[in-house]
Amino acid sequence: MAKAIPSRSENYSEWYNELIKKADLAENSAVRGCMVIKPYGFSIWEKMQRALDDMFKETGHSNAYFPLFIPKSFLSKEASHVEGFAKECAVVTHYRLKNAEDGSGVVVDPEAKLEEELIVRPTSETVIWSTYKNWIQSYRDLPLLINQWANVVRWEMRTRIFLRTAEFLWQEGHTAHATAEEAMDETRQMLEVYASFAEEWMAMPVVRGAKTPNERFAGAEDTLCIEAMMQDGKALQAGTSHFLGQNFAKAFEVQFLNKQNQLDYVWGTSWGVSTRLMGALIMAHSDDDGLVLPPKLAPIQVVIVPIYRKEEQLAQLSEKIKPLIQELRKAGISVKFDDSDANSPGWKFAEYELRGVPVRLAMGARDLENGTIEIARRDLKTKETVPFEGLTERIKLLLEDIQRTIYQKAMSFREANTFRVDTYDEFKAQIEKGGFILAHWDGTPETEEAIKEETKATIRCIPFDQEPEEGVDIFSGKPSKGRVVFARAY
Ligand code: AMP
Repeated sequence: MAKAIPSRSENYSEWYNELIKKADLAENSAVRGCMVIKPYGFSIWEKMQRALDDMFKETGHSNAYFPLFIPKSFLSKEASHVEGFAKECAVVTHYRLKNAEDGSGVVVDPEAKLEEELIVRPTSETVIWSTYKNWIQSYRDLPLLINQWANVVRWEMRTRIFLRTAEFLWQEGHTAHATAEEAMDETRQMLEVYASFAEEWMAMPVVRGAKTPNERFAGAEDTLCIEAMMQDGKALQAGTSHFLGQNFAKAFEVQFLNKQNQLDYVWGTSWGVSTRLMGALIMAHSDDDGLVLPPKLAPIQVVIVPIYRKEEQLAQLSEKIKPLIQELRKAGISVKFDDSDANSPGWKFAEYELRGVPVRLAMGARDLENGTIEIARRDLKTKETVPFEGLTERIKLLLEDIQRTIYQKAMSFREANTFRVDTYDEFKAQIEKGGFILAHWDGTPETEEAIKEETKATIRCIPFDQEPEEGVDIFSGKPSKGRVVFARAY
């Protein structure tokens, strides 16, 4: 059978685009940079949302909802925030259309001009902090721990489905605290929530660290991030958690009476992950035959394909399989029984491989006689014939094993593609081959910029998990206090 998608080595970028199309995850829309997420893709996103939402609730947060539109004046209140986002804002200027006089369709009604233009939110700090002003008066109102699930718009020039779109779905947490320490603890806690979600649910190892001042969120004092390695050796920023200091509290006059009965500005954080994680999931694990999904996020964990010629064989197989389906569902495993006669078993095998269903069971007349079933795992593409008895327990263990194996594979790949480099020549040669480079940096934005200019590599983060090590910057030769992670990134 011809391959449904190009291989990764042929054309990584085409492989990614075609895979998304063929696995029925999403498609581009009439509006450049905006995507339609199809039911199968959305069901993976829903699983992500549910897991993350549970983690937010466990750490004391509640969901709320704030408006899509932000008065333009709000955005300007925090100087560096507006500077960062001004370049990619969609602006609403009018609220009505009218029929064109020449009958050619509808045009904007010039009389329906808004007094104050509205920005379609690129992020909601401004609208939320303008609201917090009314919600916070004393230390008793703190901490305020809110999350919202929403869509945002950033008019990105170079888009790529899921990874960087003009409109994306995300969650944004916005919290307010009485002290800097508490806000910093929250910033770290939420980064850890993201890291454990990436590792335990997405089976995707991440490097935890801090962004350099150059790469910080506009309006933040500190930006923490998780960085993942894709299979082409490029980095992907998978989530961010920002310590906002008192910047937004000062911009929006959010003060509270502290325990000493003095007025003080509130300390803030914000943190977000987006539908970019869908792109990360695809790029981190999938292969030339299609998606490879970690069982914890797979909408269908087990597919059962009966192999039969005559209707009565199907009836016999179904009779045997139906109680198994019940048992699997009872054990919390999602199962699909594909007994449709529209497609051959071979076609079905390829289709579920493409869609990344972790476990495939196939049963034919001989299995029925022998009391066996064929069980195949998507990640390793191995299969074996096993006894029908005790299948639920076997599948439970297998799903856990697949989850672990996918993680370990991604981890081994990252380790094999992470290099310690001490000279600029070595750096330039290595960056062409991809991967993460651990190199010394003098801490200046000038050096960071110069390296980026020459090599397109950026500092992904200053990693938390490293031994202190004195050295010299690979580019400037100036002293350095530690290594940072360089990579080309999405
Ligand atoms: P930020 O508010 O810039 O810190 O971004 C919050 C989250 O949204 C991060 O996890 C980013 O990876 C993600 N993100 C930022 N821009 C985009 C985009 N254009 N498309 C998809 N996700 C994005």
